[in-house]
Amino acid sequence: MAVTAQAYQLVIDGHEVAAAAGRVAVVTSPATGEPVASVPVADEQDVDRAVRSARRAFEEGPWPKMAASERGRVLLRIGALLRERVDSLALLEVQSGGKPIRDARAEVLAAAECFEYYAGAATKWFGETIPVTDRGLDFTLREPIGVVGLIVPWNFPLMIASWKVAPALAVGNTAVLKPASATPLTALALGMIALEAGVPAGALNVVTGPGATAGMALVRHPGVGKIAFTGETRTGIEIMKAAADTMTRISLELGGKSPNVIFADADLARAIPSAVSAVFSNAGQDCCARSRVFIERSIYDRAVAGLVEEARKLRTGDPLREETQIGSLISHSHRDRVRGYLDVGVKEGAEVLCGGRAPDDPALARGAYLLPAVLGGVRNEMRVAQEEIFGPVACAIPFTDEADAVRMANDSPYGLSGSIWTRDIARALRLARAIRSGVLSINSGHSVHQEAPFGGMNMSGFGRELGMHALELYTEVKNIFIGE
Ligand code: NDP
Repeated sequence: MAVTAQAYQLVIDGHEVAAAAGRVAVVTSPATGEPVASVPVADEQDVDRAVRSARRAFEEGPWPKMAASERGRVLLRIGALLRERVDSLALLEVQSGGKPIRDARAEVLAAAECFEYYAGAATKWFGETIPVTDRGLDFTLREPIGVVGLIVPWNFPLMIASWKVAPALAVGNTAVLKPASATPLTALALGMIALEAGVPAGALNVVTGPGATAGMALVRHPGVGKIAFTGETRTGIEIMKAAADTMTRISLELGGKSPNVIFADADLARAIPSAVSAVFSNAGQDCCARSRVFIERSIYDRAVAGLVEEARKLRTGDPLREETQIGSLISHSHRDRVRGYLDVGVKEGAEVLCGGRAPDDPALARGAYLLPAVLGGVRNEMRVAQEEIFGPVACAIPFTDEADAVRMANDSPYGLSGSIWTRDIARALRLARAIRSGVLSINSGHSVHQEAPFGGMNMSGFGRELGMHALELYTEVKNIFIGE
């Protein structure tokens, strides 16, 4: 992978600036081990500078006071610039995250679509009039919260940043965005694109630095009114505790261990390839990964053979090649962790039916690659079925009947997504109601759509992103009564 190590800067108050202490970190490609870029390591002082700048932009700047239609036009321009630069932005995602270039392009376009959606939504988010008495008028305003802190992970860096930045800005907040340390580049690029599109200085600041210090400084900062976080459940818990001290509003999109329930009457020609892509896309580093594949016992052997056959067909390799479907994992240490889970599974009695090792190609030796693994003979109570592995590992688990499937699907600390495959619509709807999960799909492996709410239950967090629901996360309702 040909890479030039470029030096990036923080985006604060409309300018590119170095970290106050002058520290930088090198971003390396997990696919090659080569340096990709350097980014500043922000500390509390830098975060404070970014929050103060956002605060000024909120209290004194034009953004919150601007007509919603005008803010919408700015967001539309951001969408257009993202589309125009799809190739260069996708390359940054590949270089820092190791994901396949085709997926990276699709994610940049999804980010553009997100800005376009909220450009339109800006003018369609309003209050109500309430008939409390005939001697006055009661109505509500939906007001921006103020400065929002947006903390995002490495698995879909630009896309998840957009899911937060676009709705937050659409309704007049100002923001400080903190990307993951492994994949900070597209967030910094977004900060500059926003300025170019007409977002006023200070309305969107981007700080890079470690979560435990820079991220926590953002959460604890008294000038921040709301934190929107996507990441691990453990981190979400820490954030929730810290946010309590300042009564900072929070929304948390956390981990998952989602079920894919395949009944004997399902269209297996569709269900099996879908089950494979629903767990292995993005090398399984997807909070929505349907990593527990529940299969009705009468078709278990046939379906597992199908899963293995489809998993073996997936092309794992150099993420810059157009035909690659599975790129590198985010880091070597993460790959070791995923492999460790395979050992745990085997000790618990499961069997690795395919994959679970590095590819043979010597050209890939320096990357954090792992061939997609199907684990057979898994029981739902095993650690591999209970804990989020966040890598290319599918657990195949047989079930006897509908009640058994529902019981096991719900026997998880999480509740993010899931799929149900059957031709019996009444049964599909019964399961869709019974499974405790924020999003579900019937006869499909997809449940994330720009227009529809997305988020989790249980330990998968709370709050709904995407669609009009996301705007609730970034506004306060104020009630006003006018007496006669
Ligand atoms: P982390 O929780 O480790 O990190 C997420 C972000 O939080 C990063 O920017 C990180 O910074 C920052 N961070 C880490 N620790 C703290 C802290 N103490 N205070 C404030 N910020 C902190 O998650 P990963 O990056 O490892 O992401 C993978 C996880 O994200 C998976 O568990 C996955 O399920 C979940 N996820 C959930 C989604 C959902 O919508 N429900 C979507 C996508 C992912 P740094 O990188 O510097 O550590």
